[in-house]
This record gives sequence, C-alpha cells and structure tokens, in this order.
Amino acid sequence: MSVARNALLRASKSPWLARQMTQRAFARRAVRKFMPGEKLSDALDAAARLAPQRIGTIITRLGETLTGERNTAEVRDHYLLALGEVAAKTLPTQLSVKPTQLGLDTSAKQCAAEMGALAERAEATGNFLWIDMEDSSYVERTLDLFETLRAHHTKVGVCLQAYLFRTPKDLERLLPLKPAIRLVKGAYAEPASVAFRAKRDTDAQYVSLGESLLDASARGNAFPVFGTHDMNIVNRLVGRATSMQLDATHYEVHMLYGIRSADQRALAERGTGVRCLISYGDNWFPWYMRRLAERPANVWFVVKSAFA
Ligand SMILES: Cc1cc2nc3c(=O)[nH]c(=O)nc-3n(C[C@H](O)[C@H](O)[C@H](O)COP(=O)(O)OP(=O)(O)OC[C@H]3O[C@@H](n4cnc5c(N)ncnc54)[C@H](O)[C@@H]3O)c2cc1C
Repeated sequence: MSVARNALLRASKSPWLARQMTQRAFARRAVRKFMPGEKLSDALDAAARLAPQRIGTIITRLGETLTGERNTAEVRDHYLLALGEVAAKTLPTQLSVKPTQLGLDTSAKQCAAEMGALAERAEATGNFLWIDMEDSSYVERTLDLFETLRAHHTKVGVCLQAYLFRTPKDLERLLPLKPAIRLVKGAYAEPASVAFRAKRDTDAQYVSLGESLLDASARGNAFPVFGTHDMNIVNRLVGRATSMQLDATHYEVHMLYGIRSADQRALAERGTGVRCLISYGDNWFPWYMRRLAERPANVWFVVKSAFA
C-alpha cells in the first residue's frame, strides 16, 4: 500500500479532521466532484439526469458506525422514505446500505430486523437492496446478515472484496444461495495478515472471482456485478461474458458517481447494464477520504478548491 494511501486512510478515522473539513467551504466544493449534494433530493435529481442515458443508479446515504449520533430507527425510516420516493418518481434506482448504519456494532439481531424491513419494502416496490461491505472486522457478521436476509428475500445482494484472502471461500459459501454479488477491490486499510498488499495480486484475485461469478451466472446460480473503474478488468470480464454468449441481463457493471463517467456512458451505449452509485448526506468525511486514497492525485483537486 502506498504511503499516501495509508496516510489518507488513517486520516479518514480522525474525528478532529472530520470536524475541520466538513465545516470548510472549499472542502464542500471539492466533495461535489463525487457527490451531487447532501440531500436525498440531490441524489434523486442526479438519478433522473442519468436515466435517459440508460445509466441506472443506486443511492446511499453516507454515515457509518453512527450509533449514538443517529439512531437506527431514524436511518431505517429515512431509507423507507427514499424507497417510496424512488417508486413515486419511477426511477431506475436501487438502494445500498452499510450494516453499521443500522446498528451492526451494537446488535446483529436488530440490524437484521431493520435491514429486513428495507428488504421487504424494496421487494414490495419492485426495488433491490444492496448490503455494503465494510472493513474486515465486519465481514463475518455481514455474511451472516446476508444469509439471514436471503432466506426470506430475493431482492437483496451483498458486496465482496477481492483484496481479502478469505473471499474465494466466502464466495463458495454464498453460491448455494444463488446470490447477487457486487465484487469490488476493497476500500479499507487492512493488515497484511488478511489482505493483499500489492495491487497486481488484488487485480488477479478480482479477475478470478469475476470469472467464477460469470460461470455461476451462466448456470443461473448468481447475478454478478462488477463494481470497479478498472477498464482493463471490465473489458476482460465483459469480453468473457460475450464469448460465453451470456446476454447483458446476466450481469452489470457499477461505478461511482463522478468517476469514469465517459466509460459509464460508453458501456451503456454498447448495451452493458450500467449503474452509478450516488452518495449523499452530511457525514461524508470518511467516505471522501477513501475516494482520495483510491487516487491520491485527487488531493490536488482539494488543494485547488482551497485556492479557487
Ligand atoms: C459501485 C461500487 C460500490 C462499492 N462498494 C464498496 C463496498 O461496499 N466496500 C468496499 O470496501 N469498497 C467498495 N467500493 C470501492 C472499491 O472497493 C474500490 O475502493 C474503488 O472502486 C476503487 O477501485 P477500482 O476497482 O476502481 O480500481 P483501481 O485500480 O483503484 O482504479 C482503476 C482506475 O479507476 C480510476 N479511479 C479509481 N478510483 C478513483 C477515484 N477515487 N477517483 C478518480 N479515479 C478513480 C482511476 O483511473 C484508476 O486508475 C465500491 C466501488 C464501487 C464502484
């Protein structure tokens, strides 16, 4: 892991820096590159702008390990309202939620109940609920949560991270459930005992997991989503799907708002299912630092905003 990436990921955990940054106008300006605004309506307006370009969307309200600041019932009710608005506006917009926003830190049982309420409403409104994957200390509990939800709901999927050594076994564990899996590289600072340090190793594991998911999809046993901006990997996996004669309804590519937008449009124009994950909310600091860590060159954008 590069020194810059490590430093930015460490900084993402500083409450002092979070307070400083979220109050500064230049930082709020810089964050707009990756986030259309702090309100739900900002995210839905952005979703409505992308829909005519055949780019579907996923929305997520930022905030993690919020217990004590915001209670889980408030978070659940906010997302229920969001599902209602999406249905009323007939947007092609799904939902993605971090388990710690719904209390995974304090009670796995309560978290499952709150997520269950969202999965139920998603199903009833023809929507889909994605469960984000947070740092490695949450993986086991998040997989348990997914298994519990999947037993009762079909419209729910979970994220797996290619940088973790354990992920091939996790995929094997989930495949009997015919799961929807969003495969990502992984965004957290993880110790060398659990995750690859070198990008090439993560990339190799991503491709191998992606190929397994496509094979499972061809047998009707999985719905793979490739959550990456790495166009070498996207082209390789989409190429493999095409050579397997797997039609485009059997997998999707998901990217983040503001990153590789031209590639998102080009993929959609070629008929690949594309969704863009739009974040909103006032608790954006740790998430934003992870975006900077993914590409430390983005820090210059923040510096430029400070002097704009
Ligand atoms: C839809 C979606 C959902 C995600 N959900 C999760 C999750 O639940 N848990 C989790 O741990 N991680 C999640 N991530 C983040 C993911 O783990 C990676 O940290 C992130 O996607 C960057 O890796 P990459 O696959 O794009 O590949 P990289 O090799 O990091 O990047 C490939 C190329 O994409 C571009 N790029 C990547 N990131 C940026 C950036 N921030 N700014 C500008 N350009 C950039 C650059 O051109 C780079 O060369 C998600 C990502 C996506 C797209």
